Amino acid sequence: MLFADIADVFDRLETTSSRLEMASILSEFFRTLEPGHLRSIVYLSQGKLHPDFCPQELGMADKLVLRAVASISGTSESRIGELWKKEGDPGRIAEILIKKKEGQMSLFSEPLTLGRVLKNLNLIENAEGRDSQDRKMKYLSQILRDSDPVEARYLCRIVTGRMRVGAGSMTILDALSEAFGTKEDRPDIERAFNITCDLGLVAETLALGGIGRVRLMKVAVANPIKVMLAERLPSIPLILDRMGGRCAMEFKYDGIRVQAHIDRDSVKLYSRRLEDMTSNFPDIAEELRIRCKAERAIIEGECVAVDPKTGGMLPFQTVTHRRKKHGMDKAVEEYPVKIFMFDILLANGTDMTVFPFEERRSKLACTFDISDRVGLTEMEIISTAEEGENFFDRALSMKCEGVMAKSLAPESVYRAGSRGFLWIKYKKDYEESLTDSFDLAVVGAFHGRGKRAGKYGALLMAAFDGESGKYQTVCKLGTGFDDAFLAEMPEMLDRYLSAERPHTVDAQMIPDVWFLPTAVLEVTAAEISLSPIHTAGLGIVKEDTGLGLRFPRFTGRVRDDKGPEECTSVNEVIEMYEMQNQDKE
Ligand code: ATP
Repeated sequence: MLFADIADVFDRLETTSSRLEMASILSEFFRTLEPGHLRSIVYLSQGKLHPDFCPQELGMADKLVLRAVASISGTSESRIGELWKKEGDPGRIAEILIKKKEGQMSLFSEPLTLGRVLKNLNLIENAEGRDSQDRKMKYLSQILRDSDPVEARYLCRIVTGRMRVGAGSMTILDALSEAFGTKEDRPDIERAFNITCDLGLVAETLALGGIGRVRLMKVAVANPIKVMLAERLPSIPLILDRMGGRCAMEFKYDGIRVQAHIDRDSVKLYSRRLEDMTSNFPDIAEELRIRCKAERAIIEGECVAVDPKTGGMLPFQTVTHRRKKHGMDKAVEEYPVKIFMFDILLANGTDMTVFPFEERRSKLACTFDISDRVGLTEMEIISTAEEGENFFDRALSMKCEGVMAKSLAPESVYRAGSRGFLWIKYKKDYEESLTDSFDLAVVGAFHGRGKRAGKYGALLMAAFDGESGKYQTVCKLGTGFDDAFLAEMPEMLDRYLSAERPHTVDAQMIPDVWFLPTAVLEVTAAEISLSPIHTAGLGIVKEDTGLGLRFPRFTGRVRDDKGPEECTSVNEVIEMYEMQNQDKE
């Protein structure tokens, strides 16, 4: 298969911002592919060679890629510098500088097939140690040399991990159901993705075995599962009402969520963003291994820093020392951690996600021996508002953020990847202000003035709308940045610069620079109000009007445990707006 055909499809995807059209371009293409090719192409369309949770990354630095482009095209450093300033995208620069293949290929060039591209990309990914940068450049140059401008654009984007095509995982799932099934099959295909986090595997299974095989897919050790999320309500009586008068209530710990995959002698820990965190919590991984009575299990829990002398819980900031990339041995010693387990998703051969909450909870309790490092979340069955309030007060006195109410209904299964009212959170913050905090994606920036001259002075922030796949703006954020953060901002954001507004961003406010939505920041606000300029929920609450945040402030917490699609959704902003107005009435 020629890489040109794949690049052509990526190019067509990039020219549309309609999710429907993207899905139809992809489904038409998917139908023509061999299942093995389909799997690789699904990963490539996301700028990857493997599923999201695999730690290997192509991640070539922009500078290195530009060096390869300069040497192949015989371009001077100063010209490259000029183009870089204007385009900010190595892919576009390669496209501009690499000449069209003229008629017959030269004696020395070989056709650029998918196989050849994958071989070189694998070589790039595996290059390590001395001279690895030179070798990476060599492998990239070999394929760039035989590419035409559009192929070059995507090769450079794949190796830097930024595809800019705009087809997210939901669009690919739409395309897969259109290509190999019917609309009715879409929920089953999405479930398979939510329990395996592997789009390529789902695509291949569907192409080879049809929807029947997809329905048989089960949770498995080493395939992280998308986490189940909670809705919020503003009071305990409302929560009880919603839960039918009776529910389980657990402490809501303020730590780092971890999904542990335990297989006899080996344990892997994943963050909610599917990163491998085993090396951040080696002590917890070992303790879980020792305490687990099953051959295999997948559990979820919250890792919280504890005071080794008193066993008391320490604030969230303490456990963040365990998120660092380096110096882990010291951090493990200095910041002891305990895991409070709250769910079990696999027990030996049994997929527990399909069982109701109470059955999962008792299975969890009998699958582990409890120790001072591995425990269960504090839990009580609540049937009156008074019991709920007392439990909430007890949670706060133990330094928890609030409580998590969990449904006891027969349908209270583990809904991978979904946010619903089977779990409802209630936090101390809800008592103090009208809204929860927001985790928002950075989509643009404004140049600073005065004291902030030469830096970014404010950021354009957006919530994610899962239905349209678009990021819709909710505020211009300029408060809460300390000097260190202002200085760090360009390094954190500039690799996501985009010469134009990305297709996935809906905005009326025009910033000085645009970013591909990637970084997620935690923001608080005084209130959500109707906004003539922001696009979140445009026209839903009121015609031609969106929702915006009043007095937004950065809390100082960069949510690097969340991907942009996991940021606060537009639906949540609308719900919080309604919750806030109910409260005022
Ligand atoms: P969300 O997870 O809802 O996107 P968030 O990450 O900002 O939002 P919160 O809204 O504060 O976090 O609450 C949800 C998180 O609370 C869970 O993802 C989990 O990490 C944590 N948590 C703490 N205690 C529990 C518990 N007992 N049961 C489930 N989750 C808990």
